Amino acid sequence: MAEITLDHIRHAYGPTKSRDDYALKELDHVWTDGGAFALLGPSGCGKTTLLNIISGLLTPSEGRVLFDGRDVTMLPPEARNIAQVFQFPVVYDTMTVAENLAFPLKNRGVPKAKINERVSRIIDMLGLAEHAGKRAASLTADLKQKISLGRGMVRENVAAILFDEPLTVIDPHLKWQLRSQLKTLHREFGHTMVYVTHDQTEALTFADKVVVMTGGEVVQVGTPQDLFERPAHTFVGYFIGSPGMNVLPVAIDGEKAILDSGEIRLPGAVTPPPGAATSIGVRPEFVAVGDEGLPFAVTRVDDIGREKIVHGILAGHHVAAILPEGANVPAHPRASFRPEGINVYADDWRIEVAR
Ligand code: ATP
Repeated sequence: MAEITLDHIRHAYGPTKSRDDYALKELDHVWTDGGAFALLGPSGCGKTTLLNIISGLLTPSEGRVLFDGRDVTMLPPEARNIAQVFQFPVVYDTMTVAENLAFPLKNRGVPKAKINERVSRIIDMLGLAEHAGKRAASLTADLKQKISLGRGMVRENVAAILFDEPLTVIDPHLKWQLRSQLKTLHREFGHTMVYVTHDQTEALTFADKVVVMTGGEVVQVGTPQDLFERPAHTFVGYFIGSPGMNVLPVAIDGEKAILDSGEIRLPGAVTPPPGAATSIGVRPEFVAVGDEGLPFAVTRVDDIGREKIVHGILAGHHVAAILPEGANVPAHPRASFRPEGINVYADDWRIEVAR
């Protein structure tokens, strides 16, 4: 396992006249040894580009990639000792499941006893025992992808394992199971893992640390809890959570935010930089719908079982609220924000509140 450092990485696929021409704008990041990381962002934000730079499929236009301090920027993939799992299964149809899993080890001359031990462990943990002797050709796409995951994790001494949207072809019911199996395998084997996805649930359940990207830039690196409670940028608040964080442009006056003609109490005093466009971010879980606060014109109520998601207009802005079990929308609804759930932003970046 290795610590992977990205040092001032930039990448462009064509000529560069401005910063916008870079698929990766400027990236400094350390993937610590043995960590489970997710790389999360919308389509086109640069996730695959970054993964390919780590694996060596792509040489960055600028900057360096270091494995445990050693510069590997110019090394080809085969010299980097990386295991990769892709969106679609990579298996040998004519081999059995067990032979497929053993292949990466056999290929590297690992002793037979060690191969057997490792392969049986993977078969056990991925629940593949009943299929071990079957030829891969006879299996469903789900099972073939499970084998690909197993092949990615079977080697002991890899610098890192890179997963590029590995659950795309997996049936939604099986995704939960596979995610927890992957987590268990990570705990047991301790590989450095980088898991690319645009699916927030996948990222948040898999990773200890999530790296959120948009437009070729990293906007936050944090635990799932950080991303929920303290989104560093309004994009993170909006992109993560379902529905995402409500963002409302406000004027700030010490411990108050002024929205239209209404006042909203903040969790403490804030001093935004002069001239910055200020806003507050409030997750739907912290919006109370009842008889207090500003008038809230409800436009839609989605009953999702235990909770209700209420959409409406507050001072001209769309706001979503999550109502707890058993609560209902009153005849003349008003909405208020619980202060502990309010974050304050200046030009879309979070600023500290003196609590
Ligand atoms: P997705 O989730 O859709 O795979 P992504 O986050 O992995 O997206 P990348 O595939 O890394 O994003 O693409 C980042 C940007 O670089 C996009 O604007 C994309 O159009 C561009 N790009 C990617 N590959 C190439 C290429 N080979 N040639 C030119 N532009 C490319």
